[in-house]
Order: sequence, then C-alpha cells, then structure tokens
Amino acid sequence: MNKKIYLYSVNHDAVNWEEIKDFFVNKGFEVFLKNDPFLNLEGERLNKIAEYLAKIRVLHPLKKDLNDNPFPIEIDYEKRNLKREKRKKGIIYDAFKFLKIYHDFIPSELKDLNNGFPFFFTDQLIATFSDRWHLRVIILSFPVLISIPGIVHAPAKDRDYYIAETLKSVPEFKDYYLKENDKRLTKILCAYVIQGIFFYKSIIERKDFNFCDDKNCVLYNSHFQKEVISAQYNLNFCDKHRIEWEKFRQS
Ligand SMILES: [Zn+2]
Repeated sequence: MNKKIYLYSVNHDAVNWEEIKDFFVNKGFEVFLKNDPFLNLEGERLNKIAEYLAKIRVLHPLKKDLNDNPFPIEIDYEKRNLKREKRKKGIIYDAFKFLKIYHDFIPSELKDLNNGFPFFFTDQLIATFSDRWHLRVIILSFPVLISIPGIVHAPAKDRDYYIAETLKSVPEFKDYYLKENDKRLTKILCAYVIQGIFFYKSIIERKDFNFCDDKNCVLYNSHFQKEVISAQYNLNFCDKHRIEWEKFRQS
C-alpha cells in the first residue's frame, strides 16, 4: 500500500512541521510538506472563498442556522484574514462546509488514495451540529481536516478546571491543560495524522473505520483534554492497533 503523506501545513507558533515530517519519515513514510494553500489565493477566487466563509459561520451554539446573508464587512474580514500569515481566530465555521473548500486544493493525482494521503490543517475553529454545535479536532472525510485550535478548545476540561477557574485558581492547573501555543501540540498532531492514516487505510481496504475503546491508544476518540494527553500525546498503541500499524509500516 502507498505510504506517501501530503501535509498541507498552516503557520502556527507552537507547531514544528519539520518535526512532524521527521516523525513519519522515521516510521517509513514518504512525506511531502506543503504550504498553506489559502496564502496563494488571489482575485476572484479569493473573493469567492471569503464570501463562502462568511456564509458558513456558526451564529448560535444551539441553532443550526448559518450566516446565509453576510454583511460586506464580514466578507471583508474573511478576505483579509485569509491572507494573514497569522490569522485571527474566534469565529466558528460549519466543519463539513469548511472542508469543501479543500477539494479544490487537492491535486488531481491525490483524488486517488493509492497515490497518497492528503492532510489539511486549519488554524480556525470548526464544529458539527447534532443537538447543538460541537467543536471538532478532526474530520475524517475526504480530505482529512485537522483543526489545531480544536485540540485546545474541543475536548472538555474536567469539572475541577471550571470550578478552579470560577474560583480564580486556574494557575494550579496551568501546566496540565493544553494552551493555544502549547509545545505539546506538535506531538499531538502526529497522533491525529495517525488516526487519519488508519481512516484512509480503511477506505482502501473497504473496511469500516472504528475508533479504539482503549483510553491509552492513539486511536481513542478523546472527549476530554486529560484523554488527549494520555491517548494522543503519549502516542501509544493498544496491542491490536500496534500490530496493525507495524504491519502497515513495513508493507
Ligand atoms: Zn487501539
């Protein structure tokens, strides 16, 4: 099976892309590190994507409606933000609609997974709607999309954290919980790329993709920051997935 991965990076103070590349090269992958495709947008294409982004903003945590009729100032914000090396955050976008933008950035040969696995990373917050909007770290679709601020904001902190925060004693927890510019994000991103590799592999093999039930396995679907640290940051595999991973790596 192909072991080529394409990482479409995004500028981020805490993320060392070369380290992520080396991690997978050392595991036997051929890694192509690419620049943020949004930075090359110009003219009509830039305008169109800016307008689209303004339209797919989430407006209310409980309501599915999006910002269908954006104000010119909102489109202008998106246009300026797209061209920034360090983008502003704070807006939440519909994850699946956001993902659609990336279809245009995938080179035609990568539309066939046998030629390589594309990974896109965003510096923005994305969410999916069920009973309400839920922030997401990773969208396992085509292509796989990973939100870097999602790692910090999507998994819940423990109840203790919120109590401490209310009582203004957060500093006690400050080394434990992930922050925006946390150096641990680089290693955690490797873990989410591994999830994406397993996902793509399952498509090629025509099998269902399932997360792992083992809280210490990299394929565990973490909902709490504590779980992200034990499952993703530690980069451990359960026995079953270790065997599968080694088999794939050496194939
Ligand atoms: Zn596992």
